[in-house]
Amino acid sequence: MNPEQYHTDPNCLFCKILNGTIPSKIVYSDDHCIAFLDIRPVNHGHVLVVPRHHHKDIRELPGEFAALVATVIPNLARAVVQATCADGFNIIINNGLVAGQTIFHGHWHIIPRFLNDSVDWPWPHKAYSDEDKDQMALLIEQALESQKTD
Ligand code: AMP
Ligand code: ZN
Repeated sequence: MNPEQYHTDPNCLFCKILNGTIPSKIVYSDDHCIAFLDIRPVNHGHVLVVPRHHHKDIRELPGEFAALVATVIPNLARAVVQATCADGFNIIINNGLVAGQTIFHGHWHIIPRFLNDSVDWPWPHKAYSDEDKDQMALLIEQALESQKTD
């Protein structure tokens, strides 16, 4: 993948961090992404992995670009756990305002977790009837099929 294909947005905070005009505590950098400490961490050691390609959310990130970023996630997760002596970790991507996204340049969160760290997790779960499951699976399969013709 040629990094010259990557878009930037001059008004985007994370693009400014990527081009160095806003400082950050960078822990990893390559041709496709950087990782830096979250300025308001859920727990200390909370890292953001940010693709160099500006995109609003993961739907706009071409699969090949996402794959290149995903390659470094296991190493970064191991490093965060080792550095923080965490008992576990969450990797999440918030997409859209209702999902808690605040910076509209997509990114992965790696959040170290500790026994009794009082972070509000897990999410609540809903029941599913067999009929609702069948219908939902069909809708998603149809949506995937339609992408092939888009
Ligand atoms: P999200 O809510 O998923 O969009 O995540 C955005 C994250 O970026 C939040 O956890 C913020 O604390 C973090 N953040 C915002 N500004 C900065 C900054 N200048 N440097 C590092 N992290 C930041
Ligand atoms: Zn950006």
